[in-house]
Amino acid sequence: MFQITSIEDVKSANRKIIMQVMRVQSPISRTQLAAATGLSKATVSRILGDLLEEGLAEEVRTTESGVGRPHILLRLASKARFAVGIELTANIARVMLTDMNARPIKQRIQPVINQGVSGIVDEIAAGIKDITRDIPASQLVGVGVAIPGTVDVRTGIVSLEYPAGWLDYPLVAHLAKQIELPFLVVNQAQAAAWGEKWAGGGIQISELLFIRLGSTVEAGLVINDRLHYGKTHSAGAIGHMTLNPEGMPCACGNRGCLNTVASIPALLANVRELLKDNRASMLMGMVEGNSSLLTFDHLMRAVQAGDGLAVQVVSEVGRALGVIVASLFNLLNLEKVIIGGPLSAAGNALLSSLQDEVFHRALPASLVLGRIEMTRLGADAASIGAASLVLQDAMNLHEPG
Ligand SMILES: [Zn+2]
Repeated sequence: MFQITSIEDVKSANRKIIMQVMRVQSPISRTQLAAATGLSKATVSRILGDLLEEGLAEEVRTTESGVGRPHILLRLASKARFAVGIELTANIARVMLTDMNARPIKQRIQPVINQGVSGIVDEIAAGIKDITRDIPASQLVGVGVAIPGTVDVRTGIVSLEYPAGWLDYPLVAHLAKQIELPFLVVNQAQAAAWGEKWAGGGIQISELLFIRLGSTVEAGLVINDRLHYGKTHSAGAIGHMTLNPEGMPCACGNRGCLNTVASIPALLANVRELLKDNRASMLMGMVEGNSSLLTFDHLMRAVQAGDGLAVQVVSEVGRALGVIVASLFNLLNLEKVIIGGPLSAAGNALLSSLQDEVFHRALPASLVLGRIEMTRLGADAASIGAASLVLQDAMNLHEPG
């Protein structure tokens, strides 16, 4: 069908392209902006004039060699707009204020255990009020909330019950009653993938997989520069991909899912069994001979100290993950895989076995530009991602095309 494009549409598209380039390449000169966008210098100057007048862009004076006439470069004015990004887990709400580049400004971590859904909503609302009290309302663009489970990003309806009580709970409607700001609710791993894409190791990466290793294994997928939610918003359930059809039973009813090997509860159960067999490890001292006292913190400390058993078990998780990730490289021809979530604290012990497994299994053609690395945003990835999604909506900064 033939579609008429108005002059206003073209202006708005050009402005979006310029802001998008400035977001990832700054500071940047007017000439570089024209070259990067394919727009004329006159168009670039006119749009920059608008952005400077609205306070969304700012000039930076610089002398490359420290002498001579200063160049005038441009960048987005990071303090022109602010957003709140929240990650809600079964235990805590991480409430973060970010600037326009989704960089954290301040953060409040609140326990949310045993509060029920409405208690959690009250906690979140109080956290938002506290963290934004110095920000003028006109500069605050909205709130993004990242939660575990399957969630419809448009309505905020949770369709997979986790934590208990969230099934079909209209989170957006309840939060909106308390906070008069635009809201968005998104799955935690999908948010973290977008956080990496906006402000972490995924900048300028168009085909990205983020894997969150925590109480379950979940993924967020960026395809062709866009977050891929799937038809009913549940894309990324990597923890239920089958590793071994004859393996241990999984909560989903199948056997041998990745979660039965690589989730933190499965990993700890495995280590407890090994300790019962009197395997030599500093973990025995940490739990005073009682393997049932083993915690995730103990295990991470032992990995970081180079304990043989601890390093071995997380390496095995890396290899199991590698089997699945190799198939995903073959399917999607990914550019980068980023590993986050609490188990990313295992660092190189996990990463090197994962990389080895993928490099042995994936087709060379699928892996030619592929890289696998640990998160640069750490525990902040999902809250930064939730804030990024809000900023992107508010500034209409969706990728062109
Ligand atoms: Zn499963």
